[in-house]
Amino acid sequence: MARRIPEPFRIKMVETIRQTTAEDRRQALQQAGWNPFLLKAEDVYIDLLTDSGTGAMSDRQWAGLMMGDEAYAGSRNFHHLADTVREVFGYAHTIPTHQGRGAEQILFPELVKRCRGQRPVFLSNYHFDTTKAHVELAGARAVNALTPQALDTGTAYDWKGDFDLPRLREIVAAEGDNVAAVIITITCNSAGGQPVSMGNIRAVSELARAHGIPVVIDAARFAENAWFIRQRDPAYAGASIVSIVREMFDCGDMFTMSAKKDGLVNIGGLCCFKDDEALFRAVQVNCVPMEGFVTYGGLAGRDMEALAIGLKEGLDDAFLSYRIGQVAYLGERLCEGGVPIQTPTGGHAVFVDARLLLPHIPAEQFPAHALACELYLEGGVRAVEIGSLLLGRNPQTGKQEPSPFELMRLTIPRRVYTNDHMDYIADCLIEVKKRAGAVRGLTFEYEPPILRHFMARLRPV
Ligand SMILES: *Cc1c(COP(=O)(O)O)cnc(C)c1O
Repeated sequence: MARRIPEPFRIKMVETIRQTTAEDRRQALQQAGWNPFLLKAEDVYIDLLTDSGTGAMSDRQWAGLMMGDEAYAGSRNFHHLADTVREVFGYAHTIPTHQGRGAEQILFPELVKRCRGQRPVFLSNYHFDTTKAHVELAGARAVNALTPQALDTGTAYDWKGDFDLPRLREIVAAEGDNVAAVIITITCNSAGGQPVSMGNIRAVSELARAHGIPVVIDAARFAENAWFIRQRDPAYAGASIVSIVREMFDCGDMFTMSAKKDGLVNIGGLCCFKDDEALFRAVQVNCVPMEGFVTYGGLAGRDMEALAIGLKEGLDDAFLSYRIGQVAYLGERLCEGGVPIQTPTGGHAVFVDARLLLPHIPAEQFPAHALACELYLEGGVRAVEIGSLLLGRNPQTGKQEPSPFELMRLTIPRRVYTNDHMDYIADCLIEVKKRAGAVRGLTFEYEPPILRHFMARLRPV
């Protein structure tokens, strides 16, 4: 068994979490319509719904909050943040935003305006869901070109976040002037937090530059991606995380970032430009009515200070080794217990293959969601379905869309749970596996017309 990496911090403030009885949990889940999204967070013992904004800040970040300069314009904390962006990424121009989607909503309309073609399209390894939504709101299309290796959960591959380069070349050739931008998502969230290799980032960037296409980096998990590059690419074995980050961002022209992930804050985002001052000015104009004045973008001064500190803490070697090691450790415990998962594990989550674990439950009875309910009943652990329930129906035909996978995501918040919590989660899931044959599928009692997974109410068949 892999050795656990001890937490590279000690704890000076604690938050009590309450374990409930099996009967409490059955009642709570019943009341929540068999939908963990509708549970009260207080009825959850270990919450693995998302890693977004759920991390713990450090003592230095909390101290930074007290240094908030709440001036409406020109806050000292804004300048600290912009200086940090220049130092870490080498990008000259910074716009803070309330979170990642705030950056998307002010940037994409400008890229569409600059596009020479009649039918603008954005190309990505995989558009995150809000990214796709904002591309479409801006009147453009979102097309993915992800390596086919990503779809085979059982077979390990180091770079399951890579672009499918031959396919990307084909699309660029076919679309010509319609290509508004290429978005490189690091790590690739939707493929399971899987990394993009430096070679792939460079090749995509060279292709885009040869065609005059702007390169946007969707940078939510930039530090985790850099760590994977050092770990898996022999050419970077001795390199510093900072130098790898700089090399990745040299390949881009601008980035959007949800700072709620590797930025180690509970709220915040960034929209930054390497040197395109005209585009920066145009996006600033959008920022004012949408997010707020250009030196706060929807954040308090204290939030920007916490982010300036978090961006650098997130690059720390000891932190990253522990962080990604903790996720890998949970994955290994599950593998040893015979629970099928996406391999290798990604940076921020373990994905359990419910199609393999609960083969008796058909897609239209949501096996991964049924598994998430069962895990909650077993031990108060809240996970999330990534499968048919999330995908929904075809708006034209009203038929369930066929999902390429039925996964349950165990998303690990940063610096929040200890390795003992990981053991507890694994023990619970292995217990569920023992009675997998008795787990029942679910059917709707109430099915919302759109984004149904959030508000749906279900019951066991
Ligand atoms: C979370 C995320 C976003 C959106 O950011 P929010 O802060 O949730 O608005 C965009 N892209 C990726 C890859 C993300 O993980």
